[in-house]
Amino acid sequence: MTAAPTRPTLVIPSSLLPVDGRFGSGPSKVRAAQVAALAAAGDPAAPVLGTSHRQPPVKDLVRRVRTGLAELFALPEGYEVALGNGGSSAFWEVAAACLVERRAQHAVFGEFGGKFASATTRAPFLADPQVLSAEPGTVARLERAEDVDVYATPHNETSTGAMAPVRQVQEARADGALLLVDATSGAGALPVDVGGTDVYYFGPQKVFAADGGLWLALCSPAAVERAERVEASAGTATGRWVPEFLSLTTALANSRLDQTLNTPAVATLVLLAEQVEWLLAQGGLAWSSARTAESAGVLYGWADSRDWLTPFVADPAERSTVVATLDLDDAIDASAVVRVLRENGVVDVFPYRKLGRNQLRVGVFPAVEPDDVRALTACVDHVVEHLG
Ligand SMILES: *Cc1c(COP(=O)(O)O)cnc(C)c1O
Repeated sequence: MTAAPTRPTLVIPSSLLPVDGRFGSGPSKVRAAQVAALAAAGDPAAPVLGTSHRQPPVKDLVRRVRTGLAELFALPEGYEVALGNGGSSAFWEVAAACLVERRAQHAVFGEFGGKFASATTRAPFLADPQVLSAEPGTVARLERAEDVDVYATPHNETSTGAMAPVRQVQEARADGALLLVDATSGAGALPVDVGGTDVYYFGPQKVFAADGGLWLALCSPAAVERAERVEASAGTATGRWVPEFLSLTTALANSRLDQTLNTPAVATLVLLAEQVEWLLAQGGLAWSSARTAESAGVLYGWADSRDWLTPFVADPAERSTVVATLDLDDAIDASAVVRVLRENGVVDVFPYRKLGRNQLRVGVFPAVEPDDVRALTACVDHVVEHLG
């Protein structure tokens, strides 16, 4: 027996509703054209879905992803696009196993930065990392240190909606040390000079509007060299154990052949390739950065004009242009607002679960139309006014 559809507690007039009500911070809105490409990839006349990942149709997809990303990020000479299974969470373990030689420094200003720090803390072959933390809603900055060989920071902390200015990130790159940037939610929609980083890594399910499950990493020659050296010590008396699944050199060797170590989700690759090419056709990183900044500007400007709404990130320069977090006055129950929005088809604007704030969090990745963000503000206004 299926439950009868519940009547919304409050009906938002359809004239106010966005065309597309998906505002999640990941997985995020997938465009209809991507889904159409997925259907085409299943066409028996020229099948990609359901065929071997070691043969041209799927290898061609991986090649499109790799060359498209190289173009989107204006990849400097010698940098390589690597990919593997397991998402950004898996890449933290790859980095702990293959890139940190002795000790890492982490900028931690939210859940995701903290998770990478806990990965290097747990690794028995590494010294305890240096953790520079800052309160959620602010940004922790990397600082040069003598005994650190990897510096790590999120570009955009998805759990709080704070972004680290790229300039700050680049200043921390020291001689011989590597700079690893978790750009899972920022890559493809925040300006960046990849040449100022050693590994700029991300997943497909945020800006790239695909499904999760893959990690992608733009690796500098220094990062490749580091992984080769660290992994070469594996098997020696002093060397560490690097499981093949976590081996960056193995991932690179497969990536160079437009493959992955083990079977990837082919549908994710289809969605990802489509989105990379769409971003390029629209005008690349400059276009997507401007579009997301416009959408975020709508939200922050709206918050400024409502006395019951406050941007969670106090410093305007640190307010994310891809994931906006807005605190509601305590008199308004954010979870009730989120529920009514969902009942009306406007979904996933809840705050990060562990942050525990009375907050709305809105993903405004490039797939999201700025006009739909404007519509979202009208919907929230309506709900707050009528919730009673
Ligand atoms: C979503 C996210 C992750 C986790 O990605 P998974 O693919 O689920 O492992 C890591 N870092 C940041 C900044 C994220 O936004």
